[in-house]
Amino acid sequence: MKAVAVYPAARTVKVIDIDEPRLISPTQVKLRILEVGVCGTDKEICAWEYGTPPAGKDHFVLGHESLGEVVEVGSAVEDLRPGDLVVSTVRLPCIDPACTPCRAGHYDFCMTGKYSEHGIKDLDGFMTELVIEERHNLHPVPRELRDVAVLVEPLTIAEKSLIEIREIQDRLPWGGGRHRAVVLGSGPVGLLGAMALVNAGFETYVYSRAPKPNAKAAVAEAVGARYISSEQTPIEQMAEQVGNIDLIYEAAGAPQFAFEVLKHLGSNGIYVFTGVPRGQAPVEFDTERIMYNMVLKNQVVLGVVNAGPQAFDNAVRDIGVFAARWPQALRAIITGRFPLEAFHDPVMGKAGGIKNVIEIAQAVRL
Ligand SMILES: [Zn+2]
Ligand SMILES: [Zn+2]
Repeated sequence: MKAVAVYPAARTVKVIDIDEPRLISPTQVKLRILEVGVCGTDKEICAWEYGTPPAGKDHFVLGHESLGEVVEVGSAVEDLRPGDLVVSTVRLPCIDPACTPCRAGHYDFCMTGKYSEHGIKDLDGFMTELVIEERHNLHPVPRELRDVAVLVEPLTIAEKSLIEIREIQDRLPWGGGRHRAVVLGSGPVGLLGAMALVNAGFETYVYSRAPKPNAKAAVAEAVGARYISSEQTPIEQMAEQVGNIDLIYEAAGAPQFAFEVLKHLGSNGIYVFTGVPRGQAPVEFDTERIMYNMVLKNQVVLGVVNAGPQAFDNAVRDIGVFAARWPQALRAIITGRFPLEAFHDPVMGKAGGIKNVIEIAQAVRL
């Protein structure tokens, strides 16, 4: 069967033939991969910024944002049947007995750095026809979400953030009130984040470079967020327009911009970083205002790497909510579907649009 394979040492990405995998334990499930989303992580792997093959191999299969269909289950798997749709977890825990978060099932908080990730670090990914996965790494998806469920994995970033944000806001004993959120960036992580924040009751603004009209702004506004172009509206003016910013959800990966906006976080505000900057030159930066505000305004700044099982379950639930509430806007995030052999344009960054997807198989209704 075919797979998109990355050879880091040889700096090659190509379609190869690999053997069909087989179930080797009763708790495993065999999946036919239907779709795999492409994101900045895949592009960075194929620009040789990171990505490591499993031990002893010179290559690994790319792809971590999956949607699969069950084709066979091990004898101990009682709650999945052939034909069911599932999304796989990306990260698996490290094996260090002293890693308390991994041992408690919170591998997204792993402390050893020895976790593995499908299609990224020490594990094959999903850009292939069939894969084997342990049942406990799979999250069932209702069949009616077939055409949007590939967005579950990128939504887990916002879902994990919301879990963290609620914990932090709950420390304020008066709770509730009107909460204003600013999303930085309007890629898939930003737009899915805006949907999650609107859905959670935040008055939501998306602050991103391109002036209106554009396809990303249209998605943001279709879900009830306000879109502000950073090219047309300087940060000070944006902050004035919003009022007290209770939450900034950073999904742009641009450090200087991110820290400039941090200066405008409001009282008791929370700042969530989700972007991973790469190869930016150091810049001079006035840190006084940030430190001053953080202390006098009781601010919290946190980073969020996706994602644990709870965030996956919440993402499956909320993709269903979004599909009912904003069917067109949700579908508009997926702007291109490509066959596996045509991986080059979406993965090497030549294809534009918002979210591109590698379409591997059609679902078979059993
Ligand atoms: Zn991704
Ligand atoms: Zn660990």
